[in-house]
Amino acid sequence: MFAARLLLSCLLFKEVHALSGYFWHITDLHWDPTYKLTDAPELVCASSGKRPAAKAGKFGDYACDSPLHLINSSVHAMKDILSDPDFIVWTGDDTPHIPNESLTEDEVLHIISNLTQIIKQVFPKTKVYSALGNHDYHPKSQFPAGPNHIYNKTAEMWRDWLDPESQATFKNGGYYTEKLLSRTGFRMLVLNTNLYYDQNKLTQGMDDPAGQFSWADHVLTEAANNKERVYIIGHVPPGFFEKKRRKPWFTPKFNQRYLDLIQKHHSVILGQFFGHHHTDSFRMFYKSQDSPISTMFLSPGVSPWKTTLPGVVNGANNPGIRIFEYDTQTLLVKDVVTYYLNLTYANAAHARWEKEYRLTESFRVPDASPASMHQILERIANNHCHLQKYYEFNSVSYDLTECNSDCRVDHVCAAREVDFHRYERCLEKEEAAAICAGFLPVLSVALSLVLSSR
Ligand SMILES: [Zn+2]
Ligand SMILES: [Zn+2]
Repeated sequence: MFAARLLLSCLLFKEVHALSGYFWHITDLHWDPTYKLTDAPELVCASSGKRPAAKAGKFGDYACDSPLHLINSSVHAMKDILSDPDFIVWTGDDTPHIPNESLTEDEVLHIISNLTQIIKQVFPKTKVYSALGNHDYHPKSQFPAGPNHIYNKTAEMWRDWLDPESQATFKNGGYYTEKLLSRTGFRMLVLNTNLYYDQNKLTQGMDDPAGQFSWADHVLTEAANNKERVYIIGHVPPGFFEKKRRKPWFTPKFNQRYLDLIQKHHSVILGQFFGHHHTDSFRMFYKSQDSPISTMFLSPGVSPWKTTLPGVVNGANNPGIRIFEYDTQTLLVKDVVTYYLNLTYANAAHARWEKEYRLTESFRVPDASPASMHQILERIANNHCHLQKYYEFNSVSYDLTECNSDCRVDHVCAAREVDFHRYERCLEKEEAAAICAGFLPVLSVALSLVLSSR
């Protein structure tokens, strides 16, 4: 009897685990080849823009993009932690934050090529799905809506990772789609959302740069017809930056079109994985109020570079890398485990990549489905302990200061509303709620004084 029960539980255990697959997501490596240790803190790296790199060490500095040592360390940490992932998602931004005049097209291509080689050397047999970041072009962010030298060269560098058909669409517009791991019923959609970035002067007046929206609409329609399930990856996300109020990336028109695409096809989309923020956050997509249909996971960057975006205070992060656990039968995202390098400790002692947190453990949800992510968002919005935990993870445990009421509104509304108008309404509503919450203790004291004086 006991043996039969043991056998049954072993079989069940095997079945549960047989359903789990794992993939890595890395993003925003931003190699700065000028990084060097010197006595003049302003001269450590070009990407600091003369800001002093006061704590510069072998693994980098918060004012700088990544030295090669940090890039190698991050890719080898991936190998040490999970050596045989099902695949790797790499969402771009390889070059340093320096003026266009300080880079050439050849240098940009050289940097992309070098990082590609490192990943290939460490993971020679692993399929990599790779998207272009806004820093993977020269001049930066100026992606053309048609064939060009950089799309061509990059497609060649990524030849081993791309099917012949993907090569063709990539050379045309920097995007592609393939069956996920060549498996029937599963699909990867790799977008070039740099075409929608408001900094891109080449695509501003266009309705559908490189025909990507109509292509994606077609791919997702076909996916539904063929009963496929799809992951979408890209670099620049729609919606707003959670660290700066009213800071979107897409133009209003492109933001709306992206939202329409997800709302139309959400039933086949099981996850969206993006970068660009360098922070750890997520975006919810809703059908109607409180009916979550999709989540976009924004993974933290490897580069610790403190942003120079005006209005963002102390916007650096510790280097982060991340494993997604997913259901191999349904593509449901089951869990997210983030690993990080405490840069200060690494420079003082040695590189210790450690688990930062596991989503289901830290936020007490059963999985990372849209329903669970919605639950997490509501907890962040309404419970200060959850908000503070989320806030510390947001900078990969770099900024441990308190998230105050303005900070709460910024993070909650950015995660909740990708739509521009709804985001504005969220700001109004959450600010009003914050004022009421601030007044409540005052009111209750006043009321008790009035009552006690009677
Ligand atoms: Zn970046
Ligand atoms: Zn970027």
